[in-house]
Amino acid sequence: MKDDHLRLFLPGPVEVHPDVREAQAKYVIGHRGDDFHQFYASFRPRLNALFGTEQRVYMAASSGAGMWEAATRNTVREGKYILQLNNGAFGKRWTGVSNDCGKLVDTFEIEWGKPLTPEAIAPALEKRAYDAVALVHNETSTGVLNPMSEVIPLIREKQPEAMILVDGVSALGGTPVKFDEWGIDVYTTAGQKALATPPGIALCAVSDRALARAEEVSGIGYYFNFLHWEVAYKKDETPATSPVTLMFALDAALEKIFEEGIEERYARIESLAVKTREWMLAHGFGLFAPEDYLSPTVTCVHNINDVDVPGMIQYLRDRSLVISNGYTGIKNVTFRIGHMGHNTEADLDHLLATIAEFLETQN
Ligand SMILES: *Cc1c(COP(=O)(O)O)cnc(C)c1O
Repeated sequence: MKDDHLRLFLPGPVEVHPDVREAQAKYVIGHRGDDFHQFYASFRPRLNALFGTEQRVYMAASSGAGMWEAATRNTVREGKYILQLNNGAFGKRWTGVSNDCGKLVDTFEIEWGKPLTPEAIAPALEKRAYDAVALVHNETSTGVLNPMSEVIPLIREKQPEAMILVDGVSALGGTPVKFDEWGIDVYTTAGQKALATPPGIALCAVSDRALARAEEVSGIGYYFNFLHWEVAYKKDETPATSPVTLMFALDAALEKIFEEGIEERYARIESLAVKTREWMLAHGFGLFAPEDYLSPTVTCVHNINDVDVPGMIQYLRDRSLVISNGYTGIKNVTFRIGHMGHNTEADLDHLLATIAEFLETQN
């Protein structure tokens, strides 16, 4: 493998700061000693602030998909249903995971690119009483930010028994999350998106309600079992060996976030999003998501220009810049630029200038 540095503007994994990469190269420590306990405990205030919760945030050696499995397996009882509210590829994949877990699943899918608004989801909440309702905060496939503060109260009202499960994989660290205020029961994320760590560590906030539900669920399994996680969490540990070097990286990534300031970080990411959108519109492209629901962390560009997207991606790659094509089904019709993590305005300007260069070669 060439060790040339390709600068990532992917909607994950994202560019990792050199300080974070270095942190991962520290000496390994054991995961049952006092040094580890202190280290683990040091994450709490920071993670609680980022998730907007006074409840627990667990971590595990896993990608984001593991947390889909965790959310589903811990909250849906035998004979009860989970409702999956989908408006893109990640919601759809989670539905597949819930099926693979052997749960009873109802799927409610709206057109990709449209947001899950209260009006859109209302009909889905009438069919039966659910044990869980699952949705994605930021649909990375379409660049839609679903309006949590609007839909969650409706779900709570119509489905009082349901645990509200939210995939926040490309949201947390890039846009405000208010776990307690919004009334979420499980909120998942993975390091390699807006937190900007290397891949391999995943996090998940869990409510008291969800923990109580897990007590009533059989066949949760071992590795993603909240009840085991809670016992370990109380001792500042994880049940199995902790991914200590990834935790060093996460520690350094969180340090970057708090150095910058959470609000300042959200504002920087939003300003990169605005710049990306304006540039694309000025160059004849469209935006796949509607104006009021545009994601701050990923822009899904609608290729109404009919530009040669694979050619553009290759042109950028030859210049050490990496963006992403559209997701299956909307490939070439769309392409995606990630602006989460720590990329700066100068980095983005360089990317956009290189895209402009490519567009000129096409005329
Ligand atoms: C990337 C992503 C995932 C999948 O995470 P993995 O770490 O690849 O398992 C899930 N949901 C969303 C919204 C994502 O952006």
